[in-house]
Amino acid sequence: MSNHRSTVITGISELVTNDDANGGVIRDAALVMEGDRIAWVGRAHSAPDADRRVGVEGRALLPGWVDSHTHMVFAGDRTAEFEARMAGEAYAAGGINVTVAATRAASDSELAATLLRLVGEARRGGTTVIETKTGYGLTVADEVRSARVAAEQADAVTFLGAHVVPDGSDPDAYLELVTGPMLEAVADHVSSVDIFCETGAFDETATRRVLEAATARALDVRLHANQLQHGPGVQLAVEYRARSVDHLGFLNDNDIEDLAASWDGGTRGTVATVLPACDLSTRMPLAPARRLLDAGAVLAIASNCNPGTSYTSSMAFCVATAVLQMRLSVREAVRAATLGGAMSLGMHEDGWKDPRGIAQPAVGVIRVGARADLHLLDAPSATHLAYRPGVPVTRAVWRAGVQEV
Ligand SMILES: [Zn+2]
Repeated sequence: MSNHRSTVITGISELVTNDDANGGVIRDAALVMEGDRIAWVGRAHSAPDADRRVGVEGRALLPGWVDSHTHMVFAGDRTAEFEARMAGEAYAAGGINVTVAATRAASDSELAATLLRLVGEARRGGTTVIETKTGYGLTVADEVRSARVAAEQADAVTFLGAHVVPDGSDPDAYLELVTGPMLEAVADHVSSVDIFCETGAFDETATRRVLEAATARALDVRLHANQLQHGPGVQLAVEYRARSVDHLGFLNDNDIEDLAASWDGGTRGTVATVLPACDLSTRMPLAPARRLLDAGAVLAIASNCNPGTSYTSSMAFCVATAVLQMRLSVREAVRAATLGGAMSLGMHEDGWKDPRGIAQPAVGVIRVGARADLHLLDAPSATHLAYRPGVPVTRAVWRAGVQEV
């Protein structure tokens, strides 16, 4: 069985591990993978033998990107809206309804083809774990088929029926639907429930109802919050022990302190997810990632890949932006785009359960027993991700031990 064969990768100039046991990085390193897992990590001179040997000649090796926030199940195009925004128009949450109409009109195979194209694009850029959301169907049938299509390609699927009130729907009746029959119909296909808590989308009362309904079904919760202005979303995320709260362009000191405190004394808290490509594409202020890290919050960086506000799957672009404009170090940004995303998805420790209830190895980290998700750069260090912004530096990608790029 070829998948049980072992492979040793040698000549790694910089191995970014995210493992505190070795300071998060090993220089002049080697790594052995066996089947879908990492079997050995250490200095090159003490590497064991393996069935196969791959020399990478002084290049950097990182965990694959964990993109913990995307919206890749959709149809249609919003180029005109982007052009209008670049010409000075403001973004409003209602733009989502343009994609809803196109998604409802598309066939399952059209939705699957778009998702496959975007997942392929993300893989070629070094992404090995992808979360994606429903939220462009907004009828029971269209949300269920969106979740089914998503589950065929994505590693984690999130129900976002509470994305926006669809055109022509009564807000109260729609909220009844989302928290009742729609949630019931999608619950078996998703691992978490998300809500867009924002002016023009859902207010605090509506957000609480969605969070209550999801929590009652023992589903994880996450929020889109404080994207367009300050709101109650961060406080609700902490109160309901959300896995993550995402966007975070507008935070006060209390929000930042409470996000940091959510991790006190435990391994389960609320991850603060920043979406730098979205901040740029909507010309909004960049989220205060530096302040979040300085306060002790757990940070994730994700692409928010979607046709309206962030049409990129490039985690390298997000990392470069986080370094150049959000003032993170390269190590901090890489960690947020790998381990941070894994923590948001609850996949950072060995034994996390996949949707079938099967225990899986950790992702977002390179250590013995973790999944062999590896991203080889065509560069001697991870610094080149920010030092050479816009240059495609991905050289090879392994996912669960299988070379995909
Ligand atoms: Zn989003």
